[in-house]
Amino acid sequence: MNLFGLTFRHGVHPPDSKQLTEHVPIRRMPFPRRIALPLRQHAGKPARCLVQKGDRVERGDKIAEADGYVSVPIHASAAGTVADITLWPHPDGTMSEAVIIDVDPHSPQIPRPRLVPHWEGLTPEDVRAAVRDAGVVGLGGASFPTHVKLSPPPDLPIEWLLVNGAECEPYLTTDHRTMVEYPERVHFGIRIMMQCLGVERAVIGVEMNKPDAIEALRRTVPDDLNVTVQPLVVKYPQGAEKMLIHVVTGREVPSGKLPMHVGVVVQNVGSIATIAEIFETGLPLIERVVTVTGRGVNKPSNLIVPVGTMLGDVLDYCGGVREDAAEIVFGGPMMGTSQPDMRTPLTKGTTGVVVLSRDDVKPKQTYPCIKCGHCLDACPVFLNPSLLGILAQAGRYEEMVEHHLNDCMICGSCSYVCPSNIPLSQMFALSKAALRKRQAPPPPDKDKTGKEKVA
Ligand code: SF4
Ligand code: SF4
Repeated sequence: MNLFGLTFRHGVHPPDSKQLTEHVPIRRMPFPRRIALPLRQHAGKPARCLVQKGDRVERGDKIAEADGYVSVPIHASAAGTVADITLWPHPDGTMSEAVIIDVDPHSPQIPRPRLVPHWEGLTPEDVRAAVRDAGVVGLGGASFPTHVKLSPPPDLPIEWLLVNGAECEPYLTTDHRTMVEYPERVHFGIRIMMQCLGVERAVIGVEMNKPDAIEALRRTVPDDLNVTVQPLVVKYPQGAEKMLIHVVTGREVPSGKLPMHVGVVVQNVGSIATIAEIFETGLPLIERVVTVTGRGVNKPSNLIVPVGTMLGDVLDYCGGVREDAAEIVFGGPMMGTSQPDMRTPLTKGTTGVVVLSRDDVKPKQTYPCIKCGHCLDACPVFLNPSLLGILAQAGRYEEMVEHHLNDCMICGSCSYVCPSNIPLSQMFALSKAALRKRQAPPPPDKDKTGKEKVA
């Protein structure tokens, strides 16, 4: 085990700005009048819609089915009537197919009862199926289907379960409050995952700026569970999987490989609590904890929000935005995405809503690179962001790959330190997207009627 306080090399120290909500208890937001459930809320293939306009749905009903192995179903987060299935603003900035539900104002919102299997009698296969049927994905932002993480190939034995409670992104206190208020649930989720993966040790990594979370988790560790709570140095991006693995286990995940290649599965603490919840209550993933914060919102809060609640409704519930509000971000200021449309729904992967004031927003004016090297000192995976930025501006994407673009985590550390305000990480995200488009197979040849031509 590492000594207290080990960390990774490079990285940055943005102000954590968590004081706005770190001691604010989680409370439940009332059901909004309308919700929008995008069919694309997870990594992998979007779900396939099962409902039609006019259908009545109860809270917890499956409204879309997983389409393939790397996909999960989506469930109604409130009882009501399907008002439409249409293109709707998505948090990633596109328009995406979504099921719109008019929430029944007179419903007690009691979920339709589901059979809750007793987890101890289940095989790992049964646990994975239950997790998948409940639509569970990573709640830390990437939304990777959890049942896939629970299914490592047999030739890759897993030795460690690493629970990611670092929450290094400034402002966010979603995981922090979950660990303080529901530590027993976290341990129960760990127990289920350990049994499913066949691992004998788990470590919960928590940054040292959350002493109450560390205390709550340590106080509630069951005697028969081999779990260690590991305090971590406060540094960004401590919660990135590769950083966390290196700090806790001393292992390096090689370029192009996954944590399971070094015997580790990493799971966000919120997802672990959700796994516990589906076996405790039978509820699928239809609500989540979200931090609504920033100097631009009137009542910073930690809320349990039905998935699909629209941005405008959440902000109204938090007293609206202040006069000097300048930008709204889903996620945090380092890796989050700007949201211009109040109809955009909070999805399974929305960790927080941060309303930045004018003083918090970086000037948009950019300047040429002055070769100061700050970005090289900041990059936790030792890339050369300055060079990558020059290549990105020239559209030389293939050369960027030669300079290890694929290892870039889009963590935003380089952009944060750049004195020329060059939006490096955004440029790298766009470069990756452009490469994916170039490498995608060409669309099938079609005749005049739109049918595919047969060779
Ligand atoms: S965004 Fe990419 S290049 Fe920039 S610091 Fe993070 S990993 Fe390095
Ligand atoms: S931090 Fe900005 S200005 Fe300095 S070398 Fe990197 S890209 Fe250039």
